[in-house]
Amino acid sequence: MKITTNRDHLNFQCTDCNSYADGIKIGNKLKTVCLFGKNKDAVGLAHNQIAGNKKVYITKFNSIPKIYINPSIVDKSDSYFYAEEGCMSYPNKKNKVKRYDWVVVRHLKQDGYIEEKFDGFLGTIHQHEIQHLNGIDIHHQPIGDNNE
Ligand SMILES: [Zn+2]
Repeated sequence: MKITTNRDHLNFQCTDCNSYADGIKIGNKLKTVCLFGKNKDAVGLAHNQIAGNKKVYITKFNSIPKIYINPSIVDKSDSYFYAEEGCMSYPNKKNKVKRYDWVVVRHLKQDGYIEEKFDGFLGTIHQHEIQHLNGIDIHHQPIGDNNE
C-alpha cells in the first residue's frame, strides 16, 4: 500500500467508523504502511493518506504506534505557536503551520469514547492528523482561527 500524493484523496472530509473493530482493522493497515522503507520514520498517518475515507489515524511517538478512531478536538489551549512541519503526502515540501500548545482529543476505545490531552510534539502530531481527516493539510490551511 502506498501513501498518496493525490489531492483528490487528501482534501475531503472523512467519515466516522461504524465500530471500534472497523477502526482497528484500518489502524493496523496504517501501521503496516509505516513499518519499513521510506515510511518507517513517519510519526503519523491518516486513512485518507492511503486513499481511505474513514476517521482513523495512527501516531508513532517514540517508535510506539497507537491507533485513534473517530477522533475530534474538543478543547485546546488559548496559546499557540507556528511550527515548520513536513508531511508524508508532500515529500520534501515543508510549511509553517499554526499549532496550539495543547489539545484534548475525544476518540473511540473498545468501551466507548474517552478524552485525552496531548501537548508538545505529540500534541502537534494529533493536530496534523486530525486536520488530514478533515481534508486539511500543511499546504492547505484554514484561513483565520478555525484550525480544526
Ligand atoms: Zn501529513
